[in-house]
Amino acid sequence: MLKKVLITGAAGFLGSHLCDRFIKEGYHVTGMDNFITGDKKNLSHLKDHPNFEFIEHDITEFIKIEGHLDYILHFASPASPIDYLKIPIQTLKVGSLGTHNLLGLAKAKRARLLIASTSEVYGDPLVHPQSEDYYGNVNTIGPRGVYDEAKRFQESITMAYHRFHGLETRIVRIFNTYGPRMRLNDGRVIPAFMGQALRGEDLTIFGDGSQTRSFCYVDDQIEGIYRLLFSDYAYPVNIGNPHEISIKDFAEEIIKLTNTNQKVIYKDLPIDDPMQRQPDISLAKKLLDWEPKVGRAEGMAITYKYFKSLSEEELYKSAH
Ligand code: NAD
Ligand code: UDP
Repeated sequence: MLKKVLITGAAGFLGSHLCDRFIKEGYHVTGMDNFITGDKKNLSHLKDHPNFEFIEHDITEFIKIEGHLDYILHFASPASPIDYLKIPIQTLKVGSLGTHNLLGLAKAKRARLLIASTSEVYGDPLVHPQSEDYYGNVNTIGPRGVYDEAKRFQESITMAYHRFHGLETRIVRIFNTYGPRMRLNDGRVIPAFMGQALRGEDLTIFGDGSQTRSFCYVDDQIEGIYRLLFSDYAYPVNIGNPHEISIKDFAEEIIKLTNTNQKVIYKDLPIDDPMQRQPDISLAKKLLDWEPKVGRAEGMAITYKYFKSLSEEELYKSAH
């Protein structure tokens, strides 16, 4: 009998890449999504695959799955600041009620559950780079708090099920990840800059651009998640690329890559936008023998090619 995996958030960026990986490894994959920020077309290539099925469902409602399940990967959640600022209550619900439903399902099926946490649990960090033992600096009542606190609650309830019920759980703290199938209008900096370059618009830098991020290519991220699932470590593990860059320098890189001669313009920095972010990946290296392999130049070139291949209609669709 094939091993069975349930992936929530399957129609999203990371969820759809995870579906591909588990299909490739010979699993039966059930994808689940309510399309609130995802897109059917991310899964269209799997539609007729004999080992893939899709269930349209909001995971904050009771989840019913027939038969056995071996693994659950919980990736459903808005992930971009403009998404979770537009749908704050759904963001809190999917991280809390949705996670609770999945923990209950995992317990009933005796399945192992991996949850997608985030570098946002560190908030606007006062420690640099961020290692897993840093407790973070989150403004609970700020606009970003809906995402950060949902993810922090998600980690807490997952550890409670692990300790109290002996459930097999894994927690990945994902740092900024990019690649094909990101939504062009999701507001995150890479699709934003690439979309602006393709439309001939100025690149919008928020604040003075001195804030930093460290960008991880999607294939590296999926490999780290895959290894973590099959490890025996229940505590959080950072997965990301430690190569840090300021947003201002990053804008210059994009202008060079796209060969577009665009200008940059400066806009207000969103409230609680973290000033510095860089993963300490020593734990992942030691535990999973994992480190990123794809450099920014290579990863960005692949990603730009993907955005360039999209239709004019998609390119001009405004942020939802
Ligand atoms: P995404 O928006 O592309 O995908 C999220 C998917 O979840 C979407 O398809 C959406 O429709 C679905 N979803 C949301 N609420 C749902 C609900 N109630 N029921 C069913 N489906 C629902 O985002 P992504 O970048 O692929 O992120 C996936 C996961 O990884 C998220 O949990 C996010 O917090 C986490 N993460 C991502 C990054 C990153 O850089 N991409 C960084 C940190 C954490
Ligand atoms: N950013 C920017 N211009 C944009 C979009 C984002 O300068 O058009 C900045 C944003 O303020 C943040 C960084 O780029 O400092 C990364 O933003 P993103 O939304 O990609 O993810 P975050 O890491 O903040 O969740």
